[in-house]
Amino acid sequence: MEHETHEGTNMLRRKLIIKIKKYSIIFFAILLVVIWANYASRVKDYDDTVGPFPHSKDQANTTAHLSRLDRLYELAKWQHVLNRQFYEWKWKQALTSSKMTTAQSLDTTRSNDDLLFKYRKQRKTAKPANRYFVYSHKCKIPYADPFSSEALALHTPAKLRTCTNESDLITLSFDLKLQTYKMQVNTEVLVELDPNITQLTCSYQEVRSVKDATGKFFSVLLPPVDMTDNMALDRNISGILAECRDKKNASRIVQRDAFPLVQVIPKTSRTESHPLPRQPSVIMLGLDTMSRMNFKRTMPKTAKYVQQLGWFEMEGYNKVADNTFPNLCTVLAGGKPAQLDKVCEEHSSCPWIWRDFKEAGYSTAYGEDITADSVFTGSGNAPDFTLRPLFTGLTESMHTFRRFGYDYCVGRRLAISYLYDFCMQFTQRLIEELEQPAFGFFWSCTLTHDYHYGTSSLDGLFVDYLKTLEKHKIFGNAIVILFSDHGERFGDLVDLPDGFLEERLPMLHIYLPPWFRKTYPSYAQSLQLNRNRLSSPYDLHNTLRHILQLNATNPEDLPPLANCPTSQSLFHPLPQERSCVDACIGDHWCTCKEFLPVKLNGEAYNIVKLTLYYINRWMLVHHFNRHCDRLLLAELDHAERKLLGVDNDKETLYGTIMIYRLRFRTFPHEGHFEATVRYHSDRQILVDFDLEDISRLNRYHNDSLCINDKIARKFCFCFKEGNTNPEWQSLLINFKEGEEKSQTDSVVALEPIDVPAL
Ligand SMILES: [Zn+2]
Repeated sequence: MEHETHEGTNMLRRKLIIKIKKYSIIFFAILLVVIWANYASRVKDYDDTVGPFPHSKDQANTTAHLSRLDRLYELAKWQHVLNRQFYEWKWKQALTSSKMTTAQSLDTTRSNDDLLFKYRKQRKTAKPANRYFVYSHKCKIPYADPFSSEALALHTPAKLRTCTNESDLITLSFDLKLQTYKMQVNTEVLVELDPNITQLTCSYQEVRSVKDATGKFFSVLLPPVDMTDNMALDRNISGILAECRDKKNASRIVQRDAFPLVQVIPKTSRTESHPLPRQPSVIMLGLDTMSRMNFKRTMPKTAKYVQQLGWFEMEGYNKVADNTFPNLCTVLAGGKPAQLDKVCEEHSSCPWIWRDFKEAGYSTAYGEDITADSVFTGSGNAPDFTLRPLFTGLTESMHTFRRFGYDYCVGRRLAISYLYDFCMQFTQRLIEELEQPAFGFFWSCTLTHDYHYGTSSLDGLFVDYLKTLEKHKIFGNAIVILFSDHGERFGDLVDLPDGFLEERLPMLHIYLPPWFRKTYPSYAQSLQLNRNRLSSPYDLHNTLRHILQLNATNPEDLPPLANCPTSQSLFHPLPQERSCVDACIGDHWCTCKEFLPVKLNGEAYNIVKLTLYYINRWMLVHHFNRHCDRLLLAELDHAERKLLGVDNDKETLYGTIMIYRLRFRTFPHEGHFEATVRYHSDRQILVDFDLEDISRLNRYHNDSLCINDKIARKFCFCFKEGNTNPEWQSLLINFKEGEEKSQTDSVVALEPIDVPAL
């Protein structure tokens, strides 16, 4: 009995142990699941590509954003180092390899960089999208992650460098009572600058714009005028160079400086003629070459600033042309130069939007931080205030320091700071102090144009400017537009899986002040709605026109834009079903996902060879073969075909005409191109061939210095000394009647002309 009881107790104990074991296993299993789930959700945090559509989740938590950035930068740095090591290894291998092809081994013009380039330019394909900027039947723009590991691997944040450590000896102030600018000489900083100097002689020179005999404007420096502390400046001066010298040694310049002066004559009656009680001012701040992705990546502080209430980001804003001028011309004049009957080639006669603002009683200003290749260089029909005369004068007379491909410092200041000081004076004088409507356009390219990471150095400074503008009540009065013309067009970013989007989606942020949102709630609602609809520079132009006609509450109240009648103001809801054709975005620039990859088969090669044939023919017709080498196909990297009937039912009518997009490289020199062409499969020809639809994907400014033609430079590799192609250079094509006249016209007529086999 006792034995039985003992056995029973043992059994119970065993059962208990089994139970404990069972529960322990379950407990640890649950614990493991919890740990895994936690880990998975953290990983998911990093993976934006599986997130919801931007409609529902748009602005990420910014604190998490920044800390995530830090973590990803570390990761990116490692990847960058690893990539570099890999390419170096590959390059060394290539140099020592006996398998090097004869062409490569014989080609002595190929630099080490070129070899490195060859290994770097392997085409990557974007992952299938499951998130979109725009999502409709007619247009699907895939989401591009600004912080993808591939993009971060190329990101090398740059620091802002100052141009001088010296304190300001000469400063400018504005006397509100007297409405004049005054100059101060701060002698107390002399101790720091040079303690041996006790007395100074100071003077200033006015920079003035003067017309020469041919009607061209240029800048002159007027003779020096002695300057004393707190001296008032004449009201018609728009820019000065000032300097102080050692009184005992006149050759010793202690400090030189330059200042723009926005001088305003108060006109209280200016707005009286306008039918509306209050007209919003418009301040356009432009950064050349800035995709919406690169903006978020390189300017996180500014990107955070423009997430505040009142700002609207147009995520489906798509460029309409290759480079700066046609895109900006569309925003500012309502069409590309070719559409405007070339009137915009002569800048003064172009129908710039500021002329309309001026007519409506606005004061207008225009500024750029470069002088060569400026967007607006004209003199007739110029805005009321322009920075160009001062900027030209001071770049010619002060020392400069180059960085990021441009004059970074001019004198003792950043080139960009003259532009923003000019903007600040304009907005302070007109919008803050006089409360008069003002239209200002301020375009900067020195830090952004050539280096995609250059803006990372601008971020802090730019956000400081925005905060100063805020202090001066700009955001209480003005509509502010922060935008760009296009994204990176050459180089690293273009080679990313999302490179196609990086190039074609410039940033566009529009700010509406509180009173405007209250007075025109439907306009603010439309902007909100249009954030994820397809839009283009034509729509932005219509929006500027709409600001001058705010009582146009229906789209029909505004006259249609001649060059794109289906474009409209962003203050009216854009149709949800909108195609690139509706937004006047050509096939080559359209980011709506309408193309499907095709096999690189005989037909694809035939089309790329035809494309090269047409390019070479155009070069021949325009005699560029005398200076530039003939292009031959090195490799077709990628080909895709447009789906028929997606956005334009007319396409299906052609039947045998297919639209192809091709990425290819050329030799004997390394040219990297992307072309969109229309191929007639029955006749095996290209129709409506337009050189504007071909992008050069690697930089070319040094390759094509022997010619000036903007279109031809994309395709030109100048013959180097001792390196010729006599057979090609001696080819001469007879012009057809009238063809010579249209030399700059990029569209090649298809009529057969006598072209030797290429
Ligand atoms: Zn540009």
